[in-house]
Amino acid sequence: MAETIFAKILRGEIPCHRVYEDDHVLAFLDIFPLSRGHTLVIPKEPAATLDQLSDDAAAALGRVLPRICRAVLKVSGATAFNVLQNNGALAHQAVFHVHFHVIPRFDVDGAGAGLGVGWGAGKLGDDGAALAQAIAAAIA
Ligand code: 5GP
Repeated sequence: MAETIFAKILRGEIPCHRVYEDDHVLAFLDIFPLSRGHTLVIPKEPAATLDQLSDDAAAALGRVLPRICRAVLKVSGATAFNVLQNNGALAHQAVFHVHFHVIPRFDVDGAGAGLGVGWGAGKLGDDGAALAQAIAAAIA
């Protein structure tokens, strides 16, 4: 896996505003927040995208994510938030080390232009059953 800015943060070579750390997970404030309290939660295991992450690292992230979300909500005063997780350049991933964005939402997000989410939703077609079956069969 290529070197990333988050690997440097993990090694302490670049500073961050840390909000949580354990043996497997680090969380810190995003340097370009979409709203006040925007926090990044990353595994210490080096994996570029979520599909490459081990079960153990994923479990460690999952165990702590809700606790971090609660803390971000409490301190920011928000009652709504997005958890965003980008994988691959086409999905707007810029840093190729797995990370979860915890983004509190307000009527007016405040920092920068905030987060705009537009869903260009389609409609599940006739192949839904076959598609679900194929994905189910591919789960290792
Ligand atoms: P992505 O688009 O990859 O999902 O998001 C990467 C995030 O990392 C961006 O929101 C960006 O602001 C944040 N980021 C990039 N470099 C740094 C850094 O050096 N420190 C911190 N704290 N955040 C960073």
